[in-house]
Amino acid sequence: MKFQTQIGMHDILPEDEFYYQKVLEVCRSAADFYGFGRIETPILEETQLFEKGTGGSTDIVHKQMFSLRTLGGDHLTLRPEGTPGIVRAYIQHGMQSLPKPVKLWYFGPFFRYERPQAGRYRQFYQFGFESFGIGKSVIDAQIIQLFYDILKELGFKNLTIEINSIGDSCCRPYYKKSLVSYLRKYQNVLCKDCQRRLRENPLRVLDCKQEKCQRVVRGAPQIIDSLCQECHDHFQKLLEFLEALELPYHLNPYLVRGLDYYTRTVFEIYDNKKNEGSRVALVGGGRYDKLVQLLGGKNTPACGAAGGVERIIDLMKAKGEKLNGFSKPAVFLAQVGKLAKRKALSIFEKLRESNIKVAEAFYKDSLLSQLSQANRLGVRYVLILGQKEALENKIIIKDMKGGHQKTVSVKKMVQEIKKKLKK
Ligand code: AMP
Repeated sequence: MKFQTQIGMHDILPEDEFYYQKVLEVCRSAADFYGFGRIETPILEETQLFEKGTGGSTDIVHKQMFSLRTLGGDHLTLRPEGTPGIVRAYIQHGMQSLPKPVKLWYFGPFFRYERPQAGRYRQFYQFGFESFGIGKSVIDAQIIQLFYDILKELGFKNLTIEINSIGDSCCRPYYKKSLVSYLRKYQNVLCKDCQRRLRENPLRVLDCKQEKCQRVVRGAPQIIDSLCQECHDHFQKLLEFLEALELPYHLNPYLVRGLDYYTRTVFEIYDNKKNEGSRVALVGGGRYDKLVQLLGGKNTPACGAAGGVERIIDLMKAKGEKLNGFSKPAVFLAQVGKLAKRKALSIFEKLRESNIKVAEAFYKDSLLSQLSQANRLGVRYVLILGQKEALENKIIIKDMKGGHQKTVSVKKMVQEIKKKLKK
């Protein structure tokens, strides 16, 4: 029997890990600059957190959760997205009393029982940034700018920000009514999922990717025309900020995003280059002013977004970006003889403490074969410890370019190497 990874789940091999590391580093430096603190929540949470937070009518809760029952009878779910867990932590750790805004970011694995296809995995990594406590649209603009900066830093030059406002509890019900009366006329044309959505959460029909539903949606009333004065002003200000920041946004009146908790702003960031035919969002997010209260906290406006690491990496690779994070060793430590081998182990440690990257092949006995390995690695200086040097506490430094060599005391070795490396 051969064991394999599960469908839609992947091993991250060393050469791929460099890409993850790169995305993480860029996120970390953006977080540092914008003043976000890193938070990591557990991968398993109470199922109810997502049912309530992400929302019962979303595809995620409806058909994409990896849920389990523990031996103790608890209903848990592998987190399908980050925001509900962050909100839970925000409330649980009393962050509501901290000065506003409270800014948190995360980077980790998420799980959705998706139909595997390009850009959709069952285990994938996301990074996310969430800002709690301020309702003003300048925060939305900053969140968008932050994600835009991260993608730019990762080499994406041709991005589009799709943006919309889906109003709030004041204006959305009116829009819902007019949308439902429009969609009812086309009920029979809609896909099965959308027929259910029409009953449970009609806005989600706007999000359907099926061509027949999209055709219906193209004639649907637009929420932008139904926004109340406050939502309208909020959105207008946001667009003004985006213009001031010279961010390339595109108003998409049918963008609603797949989650229940959004209020007002929703946005997605796309790379304009197509990857394997389909255009997938790299980042998605928006404002969620009611979620903290919904999950048992105080009434707290909030805004955030998440980026899909695999989708970003897939595109980086498609663009031909090559990353190799293995740093080249500065020296090679060769040894000949029993005593030398023993001493070489501690010399290796000494070099590590002095921050000199050293390659070795302690499992080899032949000097020739060690030297040819050093050559293959392209290392300029080889340290050779033979029986005689080991007895005299000395070591040979051999310059592979030109072959010149010099014997120095082990005590002075680090100093000598550093001098040579500086040159
Ligand atoms: P969401 O949490 O659905 O708002 O998605 C935020 C971002 O995560 C998306 O824009 C994608 O880049 C990424 N993403 C969502 N679902 C998946 C998935 N199944 N596989 C890979 N990436 C995903």
